Amino acid sequence: MRSGATKHSEYRTCSNCVMDTTDSRIIFDEDGVCDHCISFRRDVLPSWHTDARGRADLDKIVAEIKADGKSRDFDCIMGMSGGCDSSYLLHVAVKECGLRPLVFHVDGGWNTDIAVNNIKVMIEKLKLDLFTEVINWEEMKDFQLSYFKSGLANIDVPQDHAFVATLYNFADQHRIKYILNGGNFSTECVRNPLEWLYYGTDMAQINDIRRRFGSIPLRTYPFSSVFRHKIYLRYFRNVRVVKPLNYVPYIKREAMAFLERVYGWKSYPQKHFESRFTRFYEGYWLPKKFGYDTRKVQFSSLILTKQMTREDALRELSKPAIDEEEARHEFEYVANKLGISVDELQGYFTAPNKTFMDYKNQETLFNLGAAIMKLFGIERAIKR
Ligand SMILES: [Zn+2]
Repeated sequence: MRSGATKHSEYRTCSNCVMDTTDSRIIFDEDGVCDHCISFRRDVLPSWHTDARGRADLDKIVAEIKADGKSRDFDCIMGMSGGCDSSYLLHVAVKECGLRPLVFHVDGGWNTDIAVNNIKVMIEKLKLDLFTEVINWEEMKDFQLSYFKSGLANIDVPQDHAFVATLYNFADQHRIKYILNGGNFSTECVRNPLEWLYYGTDMAQINDIRRRFGSIPLRTYPFSSVFRHKIYLRYFRNVRVVKPLNYVPYIKREAMAFLERVYGWKSYPQKHFESRFTRFYEGYWLPKKFGYDTRKVQFSSLILTKQMTREDALRELSKPAIDEEEARHEFEYVANKLGISVDELQGYFTAPNKTFMDYKNQETLFNLGAAIMKLFGIERAIKR
């Protein structure tokens, strides 16, 4: 594990993927290959199997899940955003594994029509029930505005945190021990650097932001601390997270085509664009205000897993994710929805950028936890 920023005096891109010095802690070897690529080859590739071996491992886990949930209505739980990962996960879980998941969706107020359609067609075709947690809009709005006011880069915390907390709350209530997670090496083997997207479960930071910038109490918004879900639920209640997409072939383009053909699912232009807020945030706010373009992480993952060429990725990156015309429209939409003027939102956009270190945080504890998990082989890659 490394700490502290590596300062790069000049702009540089990895010779193998498209990660670059906008990730200030990136390190290059003598061939110009970055540490994301090296970590993938060293930590992920040797133990990642999507052939018969992976399938056999998955079958073993599925048998345990079924045995554990035999007498209950659900044997596992998963969240559904309407995006490709969660949609394909739902298909694999129900159709290929015969699992009976409690499927929930968190409605934070920013669903796109595509997301709503995708969730609906899949739930209907698979004859499942959907548990929807609607976040109180006044609270959500106030929480999101607090993050805009903070000057931090990770303003998607209010949506992310609600999802994580709802997941663990449902798992706890229904005594479900297995969480299916759409996380996968195939499309996310390169992780967002910590300086781009700081932990959304750091309650010290969240409370500090709310105390300084919030204007109403969040009475119904679902909270969960990382210590509760990573330690209490995992070790005392034995709740386990399973990532089925790591055991089967998962080629994004093929999965999307399959979902379209079989379920009437609709594809959308970029990962995470199923939420209109995230689309605005990752497509415009983060790259334009902070210089962090999450497409670099997404494309680099696809390059490492041979689903995209570096040339195609560089060509895509030369164009903005959201063009200026569309961005103006989105600025209006987001400002209106949050109940503020376009000028006020513009003010937050031009205000000085802050980092998670400018506010109370538990980074040291998070790092310690991650180091321990890596030591015990629970998690393979450390977020940095
Ligand atoms: Zn690289």
